[in-house]
Amino acid sequence: MTAEDAFFRICGMIGARAPIWVQGAGGNVSRKHSGRLLIKASGCRLDRVGEAGTWVDCDDSALRSGILDGSISTEQDYAEAVAKMTRGKSAARASMETGFHSILPGEWVMHFHPILALLMAERPDWTRQRGIHVPEYLTPGLTLSRALAAHAQARVIVLRNHGVILQGSDPEELLAEWTRLEQDFLDSFQLKIAGMSSDVIGPLRVYFPDTAVFLDELKKALVSAGQGYRLGVVPSGDRGRAVEELWLATQQLAQLHPGLEEIAADEAARLAGLPLEQYRRQHGA
Ligand SMILES: [Zn+2]
Repeated sequence: MTAEDAFFRICGMIGARAPIWVQGAGGNVSRKHSGRLLIKASGCRLDRVGEAGTWVDCDDSALRSGILDGSISTEQDYAEAVAKMTRGKSAARASMETGFHSILPGEWVMHFHPILALLMAERPDWTRQRGIHVPEYLTPGLTLSRALAAHAQARVIVLRNHGVILQGSDPEELLAEWTRLEQDFLDSFQLKIAGMSSDVIGPLRVYFPDTAVFLDELKKALVSAGQGYRLGVVPSGDRGRAVEELWLATQQLAQLHPGLEEIAADEAARLAGLPLEQYRRQHGA
């Protein structure tokens, strides 16, 4: 199997678990090979990686050294460095989360947004006993990339109000390990992920950065119902799937943990204004 074929396969395995592991175009996978970085393109769904324009193969050395030596010091610098890496090769641009894929040393870095990662972040004793790293909440982009240098040796990093990062040399074993951790978590706290249909009624909560970024789109698709909302007409294609998956993941979380903290309003506004998020909003669902 070529480096690309193995990469497509792993993207597909994670993408197939929407909306419980990933929603819309969230999440990204990378593989370091022959001094280069193969990574999902910004704005593409993981379950589409392999189609034209859905991944990039780039030289990330300038991005990595710039983050580590501090010469990339603003979100604007960071956005430009990510854009420059892929310019001229294809229309696709590397994921906005390329920074931490580059900083972390694992041959494979898999990042996605499982609902249970957000609940694990609330259980420090449970995560500590299992060797899971749980840094404080970090704004995606340069801030997150820089902070993860301190977690370079972790196999499993749970990101508060965001998701998980797995890194190592055997991606299938890492995904199996994550699956075991999820089951262990459900058993430990006697939780169950119930099946849910898209006409579920519930509250609008901003648990994930993607909810903040696509909040206007989500609000447009919601209609008042009972004490909360339900989905009305969603856009066609991948944008509609993104709205529906974000809504379902939000409702799962609201039912599993009604007291789960949301992303603060000022942080949500900042996320929506990040240069790379503006790009992503225009170019993909
Ligand atoms: Zn993410």
